[in-house]
Amino acid sequence: MNNVVVTSVRAHIKNAVFDAFPGVRRRGPSASRRVALTFDDGPDHLTERYLDMLDQLGVPATFFLVGGRAASRPDLVREYRRRGHQIAGHGYDHKRFNQLGRRELLEQCAATETALGGQLSGRPWVRPPHGSLDATSLLSLVAAGYTVAMWSLDSRDYSTNSSSDIVRACARVTAGDVLLLHEGQQWTLDALPNIVAALQAAGLECVTMHDLFAN
Ligand SMILES: [Zn+2]
Repeated sequence: MNNVVVTSVRAHIKNAVFDAFPGVRRRGPSASRRVALTFDDGPDHLTERYLDMLDQLGVPATFFLVGGRAASRPDLVREYRRRGHQIAGHGYDHKRFNQLGRRELLEQCAATETALGGQLSGRPWVRPPHGSLDATSLLSLVAAGYTVAMWSLDSRDYSTNSSSDIVRACARVTAGDVLLLHEGQQWTLDALPNIVAALQAAGLECVTMHDLFAN
């Protein structure tokens, strides 16, 4: 097998494990015609523009915030919430979870929770930076009561600066998908109107990740 095939088989097995593991959310139910837009790595200098754009488009989203950045911008943390979005943790300093010891991992997540001022409901949600997770970090998070949020459609907006590439990647969306996007990038911001228009033309409704998985 060539490397691409090996990588895709690995990704397939990883996804199957995530889908079967209680406490991990990767893809919502396909029967509901709903999808979730998610944005990692904020808050930053473009957050207000992202929030204004989502207001204009009239859709909610889920933001996975870096704890240290959230701690320095409590005004923006309030603003995400005030405008009806879900906020959740994305590590305190964006270090890979599989490179942190169990204690350091849980301390980072707790400090992020403090910076966020708590989350909407029940189990706090967390997305591992770079999606890096091993068995130890996964079990530690779930045992500590976190919901681990992955994604099912990667826009790959971190590997381009062309908004049309991102729109094209998101055109593969189907009901139940969780779309991975990032804050702080003008090209991602510019892609949003076309992404949302395509979703709506396909009869899909944008909801927060929490609502996508709620019964
Ligand atoms: Zn990230």
